[in-house]
Amino acid sequence: MRVPIIAGNWKMNTTVSEAIKLVNEMRSRLDEITNVDKVICPPFVSLAAVGELIKGSSIKLGAQNLYFEEKGAYTGEISPLMLADLCEFVIIGHSERRQYFNETGEIINNKVRAALRAGLKPILCIGERLEENEAGRTKEVVTEQLRSSLAGIDYLSSLTIAYEPVWAIGTGKAATGEQANETISFIRHNVAKLYDKEIAQDVRILYGGSVTAENAAEFINQPEIDGALVGGASLKAPQFMRIVKQTSEIKQ
Ligand code: PEP
Repeated sequence: MRVPIIAGNWKMNTTVSEAIKLVNEMRSRLDEITNVDKVICPPFVSLAAVGELIKGSSIKLGAQNLYFEEKGAYTGEISPLMLADLCEFVIIGHSERRQYFNETGEIINNKVRAALRAGLKPILCIGERLEENEAGRTKEVVTEQLRSSLAGIDYLSSLTIAYEPVWAIGTGKAATGEQANETISFIRHNVAKLYDKEIAQDVRILYGGSVTAENAAEFINQPEIDGALVGGASLKAPQFMRIVKQTSEIKQ
């Protein structure tokens, strides 16, 4: 049985005081729900303050990125060891990192390895761009992203995959539940090919892309979809709480 996950990617939003306010608005309601992993991923600068606020609760903390070296002369970067002290999860390979910061498959692979070495749980994002989708290349793209991101990694027990079609992120134009389920099923088959059937059955695969409280059930009801990576709607406490609550009811 895969435990569902709802992860909130706050992206480059909220000051420290805004982050504290947002967590205070949802902490107790989220804490009550125990059959879903609830992960919030604020900006780096708020991790310590948010970590203090959720200490002792069932809410988990994640970062949005990391650098793959452990320490040294990498001005401005944050290492896996620094994060391992603060949080449990880390988003890696988000399409915004690929697009705006030129993250390649090799860089993402280095980051996944570094996260696992430090005991962090990566949420690995993959997904096709609009032109790739329109050219019928979705399967080819996610296959290649999966292969390059996971090269040389021989265990996936703490890894979560998020299928996020780039054309659906922040656009308000979500995939349909069936579309997402089909691609996620394909990704699971690929994990079985790269590893084995048991690992593929155990790995959690999320959908991400314009998920809201209004459309979340369409995704969560799909058998292959184990939860969601939520951007915009995770910045609104009532929306995020409703998504978690629906997930709890659907997947019980
Ligand atoms: C995301 O940031 O991963 C995301 C899916 O964003 P949104 O929900 O806003 O589309």
